Amino acid sequence: MTLDQLQEGQFALIRKVKGRGAFRHRIVEMGFVKGQVLSTLRFAPMKDPVEFRLLDSDVSLRRSEAALIEIDLLEGLDSHTYNGNHINVEDRSQSVYVDKPHLSQAHPLNLKHNLIEVCMVGNPNAGKTSLFNALSGAYEHVGNYSGVTVDAKTTHFFYKGYTIELTDLPGSYSLSPYTPEEKFVREQLLQKNPDVIINVVDASNLERNLYLTSQLIDMDVKVVMALNMYDEMSKKGDVIQIDVLGQLLGIPIVPTVASKEQGSDMLLQKVVDVYLEQEPTIRHIHIPYGRRIEDSLKPIQDAIRKDEGFVDAYPSRFMALKLLENDAELINQMCHLQNQAQIEKLAQIERQKIQSFYNEEPDHILTDDRYAFIRGALKECYQRKTSLVKNVSLTDKIDAILTSKIWGFPIFLFFLWLMFESTFFLGDYPLQWIESGVAAFSNYLELHLAEGILKDMVIDGIVRGIGGVIIFLPNILILFFFISIMETTGYMSRVAFIMDKLMHTIGLHGKSFIPLIIGFGCNVPAIMSTRTIENKKDRLLTMLIIPFMSCSARLPVYILVVGAFFPKNAGTIIFLIYLIGIMFSILSALLFKGLFFKKAESPFVIEFPPYRWPTFKAVAFHLWFKTKQYLQKMAGIILIASIVIWALSYFPTSSHVFGDAQIEHSYLGTVGKIFEPIIAPLGFDWKMGISLLAGISAKEVVVSTMSVLMDVNTAFTPLSAVSFLIFVLLYFPCIAVFAAIKKESKSWKWAIFMALYTTILAWIIAFAIYQIGSLFI
Ligand code: GDP
Ligand code: MG
Repeated sequence: MTLDQLQEGQFALIRKVKGRGAFRHRIVEMGFVKGQVLSTLRFAPMKDPVEFRLLDSDVSLRRSEAALIEIDLLEGLDSHTYNGNHINVEDRSQSVYVDKPHLSQAHPLNLKHNLIEVCMVGNPNAGKTSLFNALSGAYEHVGNYSGVTVDAKTTHFFYKGYTIELTDLPGSYSLSPYTPEEKFVREQLLQKNPDVIINVVDASNLERNLYLTSQLIDMDVKVVMALNMYDEMSKKGDVIQIDVLGQLLGIPIVPTVASKEQGSDMLLQKVVDVYLEQEPTIRHIHIPYGRRIEDSLKPIQDAIRKDEGFVDAYPSRFMALKLLENDAELINQMCHLQNQAQIEKLAQIERQKIQSFYNEEPDHILTDDRYAFIRGALKECYQRKTSLVKNVSLTDKIDAILTSKIWGFPIFLFFLWLMFESTFFLGDYPLQWIESGVAAFSNYLELHLAEGILKDMVIDGIVRGIGGVIIFLPNILILFFFISIMETTGYMSRVAFIMDKLMHTIGLHGKSFIPLIIGFGCNVPAIMSTRTIENKKDRLLTMLIIPFMSCSARLPVYILVVGAFFPKNAGTIIFLIYLIGIMFSILSALLFKGLFFKKAESPFVIEFPPYRWPTFKAVAFHLWFKTKQYLQKMAGIILIASIVIWALSYFPTSSHVFGDAQIEHSYLGTVGKIFEPIIAPLGFDWKMGISLLAGISAKEVVVSTMSVLMDVNTAFTPLSAVSFLIFVLLYFPCIAVFAAIKKESKSWKWAIFMALYTTILAWIIAFAIYQIGSLFI
């Protein structure tokens, strides 16, 4: 909590003083230092300012200032028991005993005074998440393309008596409010105000990566730089004098190879040193912006500093720069300046001066100046290996084939085909094993459980339902293995590239293809990954066509039905189903584009990371994570759905009818019969209808429900099987996807639209297939 939340009479221990400059100086002088115990004396009549008692002095602060002081509430302390002693904060153990004799009893207070808050920022694909994992021993998802991490992830670990709270932020190229991710990163940095920032920099691509660093320098935050991918830079033959660069930037730099966990110890040591202010390299520098800009910065800074609402939490130079960049939104968020209007007016005048001086937008000038600064710095310390012979790297050679005009497309299609072929055929062996295991288990229960409802429920409901789905785990893992290979090697970006042309014709960019491929695994992360698309309309359009990317949960339905009716060409047919899904997403995109999003697409550069071998660890943990997720689904939604479906098909019990006839008369049968007329023209009976209805919760439930209710081999004809497969491919994806679209588009409208569109489309297509097919068969 922060000091402004401390109630009258309560005691607290100062954990951290945020803010900087004059403000920080002043309050530190007054005794607001880490480890100090203080209490709230009284509030002013209007609740502001607040008077605090510390040591022997009473000091009043404005609430906005108090909000910059982080505290830990000391429960059990009050004015009778506290004698004004310091609590020993030098003790670096996790919990501190306040064992003063006059406290009624000694009790441990879990004081977090030795907590260091650390955030990782850096360009996409610089290796942040790898480093996050290397430092903390966590296993977050790592992928060789931009946009893998879309949310902040936080973990805690211990280092030399400190608790380090490490947060992995999404990749960003700058701190301008350009993409939602960049905005998010910036807000995190400003609001969280971390003790130390680890700037992860891709050493093999320094110039661009340092652009973000230059903005961190403007923000005047404490930075340690992880010069990652150091191995790749060295391999190229380039040499860098790390100390020189560190001096130039005023930032300590540690070379790291995150994927091999090299350099992490040294990095942590630097983080602690910087935290303790014992790092000599740290120095606040100003990026030189040239006379004209500096002349404009000064009056704005002065005006900001004079403002009552300004509390030094943010550097005035940074704010003045943002005003020159015309980024008023940020200023609004950060400070409630009283003279806001006046300051913005001033900024506008200065912007015009710059504009007429350079005949260019001020923010372009600032960008140029930052790059000029970086290039200048690199000249001092970076020796590129310049070879006169054209240096063709392995990556270039591979790219020449994989992205070639002739081979690019066939290779990608072959890869997809191979993926589904393997999914079906390789997966079939373990599938058989698990299936016979489930059957044996079921037989065992049959023999050993006492007759009755319970036995029926366990065998016909739970074991059949869950057993029907769990057998597909190997297939799903194989699918995820292939997706994981695409992600970790860097092939994903190449696919985006070769799809670019096609995507342009449907009004999207090649970059939108990455979420679509992720959608083969699961639509939910795919929808989240659209956050890398900065244009709102492009993003929404991509989101709306993702449900046609057939996710792994739909795979069991295909394997079950295709395996039963078309075993000879199973792999190819499943591949075709996926292609049909892609086709519908393209057609829908064209339709939506014409209806809702007429504007032309925005240009975007696709990053081409060099090819990398997938690390065993990354792939293994990805698969392990998926297995866990799948098993959790079994124990949750699929278990519940199986029991409910079984119960509804079991009751009311009647002594006159048995078997199929009894199901017809059950509650489920009664409900199913009501729906039957709607789906009969598609070739489905009521049991299929119920399975599809239950599948709204999660697509695996379609299979578990079918396992409980019917025998797939006899329920379908080949024609109705095709109609069913297409219906499952196209109709309402699942509740989680619905929720994701609602959340990411921030509107119910699009979520409901998606639900109706997909389901109605599925009905029409399945209807056409069944009716037209019936004419020929
Ligand atoms: P993020 O987007 O910044 O989170 O980057 P990731 O941690 O997902 O890593 C991107 C890719 O770079 C992955 O394929 C990693 O295995 C790889 N990688 C990360 N660090 C290094 C490194 O120091 N050297 C090399 N050669 N590869 C690395
Ligand atoms: Mg990441």
